[in-house]
Amino acid sequence: MKKYQDIRDAAFEANMQLPVLNLVLFTFGNVSAADHSLQVFAIKPSGVAYSELSPEKMVVVDFDGNTVDGELRPSSDTKTHAVLYKNWPEINGIAHTHSMYATSWAQSLRDIPIYGTTHADHLTVDIPCAPPMDDGSINGDYEYETGFQIIDCLTEKQLDYREIEMILVGSHAPFTWGKTAAKAVYNSAVLETIAKMALLTEQINFESQKIKESLIRKHFERKHGPDSYYGQ
Ligand SMILES: [Zn+2]
Repeated sequence: MKKYQDIRDAAFEANMQLPVLNLVLFTFGNVSAADHSLQVFAIKPSGVAYSELSPEKMVVVDFDGNTVDGELRPSSDTKTHAVLYKNWPEINGIAHTHSMYATSWAQSLRDIPIYGTTHADHLTVDIPCAPPMDDGSINGDYEYETGFQIIDCLTEKQLDYREIEMILVGSHAPFTWGKTAAKAVYNSAVLETIAKMALLTEQINFESQKIKESLIRKHFERKHGPDSYYGQ
C-alpha cells in the first residue's frame, strides 16, 4: 500500500545498516520505522537474512502489535517496539541488536559508566541497564513486558526518552531509538563504541574514575546546546 512506502523504505534502509556496521550476526537484530499519524510502524520480518530483505518484505504493524500489511511474520521483538511507540510519541525509529560489547555489559547487569568525552558527546549520564524482569513477566507476554521493562527503568532513574536514546536490557541486549530509524541505528553504533571503550578503560585501569562533571557539560553542550559548534 502506497501510504506505507515511506516507513517501508526507512525500515529497510536502516535494517541494512546493521550488518554494514558490524552490529549483527545472521538474522539477529531488527529496526523499525514508525508513522505516528497512521499509528503504525514497519519492521523487519522474522528470520529473513539481511541479503534477502527488501522494502516490500517489511511488515507493517499497528501500535498493539497487529499486522496490518505484509506477507511475512514480523520480528519476534515486534511487541516491544509497539509498546515503546505507543508510550513515546516523539520517536520514529527503534533498533535492537545483540552487538558484542553492549550485550556484554547487559549480561553483566551494569550501567556503562561515563568515562570520557565520546560518551559525554551523546549523553550526560551512565547508560542505564534495566534489571532482568521477574518470572511472572518472563512467563507472561514476554516481548510486551520487555517494552515496560525499558520504560520503567527510565522512569525509575528519572530519565527522559527524548534525551536518553539507548538502554541495556539486563541479561539480554541493547535497544536504541530516535527521531528516525536511521538515528536509532546511529545510536546503536555509538553505544557499541562507548561499550567497547568502557571495557578497555576498566581493563587498562580497574580504578578508572568517571569523567568530571565540568567536562560532561562542556562536551554535551557544545554538541547539543543553543550555541553548539561541534561538527567533527
Ligand atoms: Zn534480542
